[in-house]
Amino acid sequence: LYLGVDIGGTKILALVVSAQGKVLSRCKKKVKETDPESVLARAWQCSRVALREAGLGKKAITAMGLAVPSAVSDGIARFAPALGWRNTPVVELAQQHFTGPLFLGNDVNLGLAAEYVLGAARGCQTVLGFFLGTGVGGAVIHQGCLLHGEDGLAGELGHLIVVPDGRRCGCGNRGCLEAYASKTALLARLKEALFEQRLPSVLARSIKPETQMINSSQLFEAYQAKDPLTREVCDGGLRLMGPALASVINMLSPGRVVLGGGLVDAFGAPLIKRVRQWTRPYIFSGPERAQVIVQSALGDDSVPLGAALLAREAGKLLV
Ligand SMILES: [Zn+2]
Repeated sequence: LYLGVDIGGTKILALVVSAQGKVLSRCKKKVKETDPESVLARAWQCSRVALREAGLGKKAITAMGLAVPSAVSDGIARFAPALGWRNTPVVELAQQHFTGPLFLGNDVNLGLAAEYVLGAARGCQTVLGFFLGTGVGGAVIHQGCLLHGEDGLAGELGHLIVVPDGRRCGCGNRGCLEAYASKTALLARLKEALFEQRLPSVLARSIKPETQMINSSQLFEAYQAKDPLTREVCDGGLRLMGPALASVINMLSPGRVVLGGGLVDAFGAPLIKRVRQWTRPYIFSGPERAQVIVQSALGDDSVPLGAALLAREAGKLLV
């Protein structure tokens, strides 16, 4: 049996997984403090709850995989802005809690790897992943191998430029897909329209002005109810997925382009349909190729499942 743990900026999800990739139990906890020691202690606490749920002790675990929102090499998280970590020796620190074999990987790479082995991209050789949440994560599997590039930073699909000299992105550049299609970007546009321009919307009733919080399901409800402002803002940002997806489809001719992450989980099939529409006109080999765009089959579990697969393959997953 294997433990797969997804360590994010706001939550931790731990799974106990069989050698065949079946999820036996899961536990989710919020991240309270983001210093490495506290986060790893919490990740282990979360893992122990998952083990208890499955009626197991830690001796039952052959190996453990950890996923972090960071470029990774030699068991070290190089830079994780969501957690404020730089060159953090995650494996060494986690070894205080789990003494068996431990492996570390990038969350988006592992999420796409899980979709490739067990989910929506099974049976294909070249696949791409776009994960829409706080940011837009990207990963590429080319002919059965995860693409790392010369500097380990290949596959940053969220930073494809969709508007030259466009909106400022969190990475410092301008006009990146992430600056338009991430949940953060959509909410910023909506808040501007609601609270500064005072435009009417059904969302105005469900949001508390003090916190100005809108969750993905509220957003989807307003979208489904055809609230004009929500439609305008969401479609305005998300339609830029079209040229971005078409560009990478034109370049790599993938068998699947998997869309995942919190925003995609909340919007579901209607969003996949729209994204196909927005992509179709730009595909070189013909509009019917937009059918390769599919929704993640594993949802929230994709990243920790990928971490468990990394542990099963002793750190050599899709290399
Ligand atoms: Zn960017």
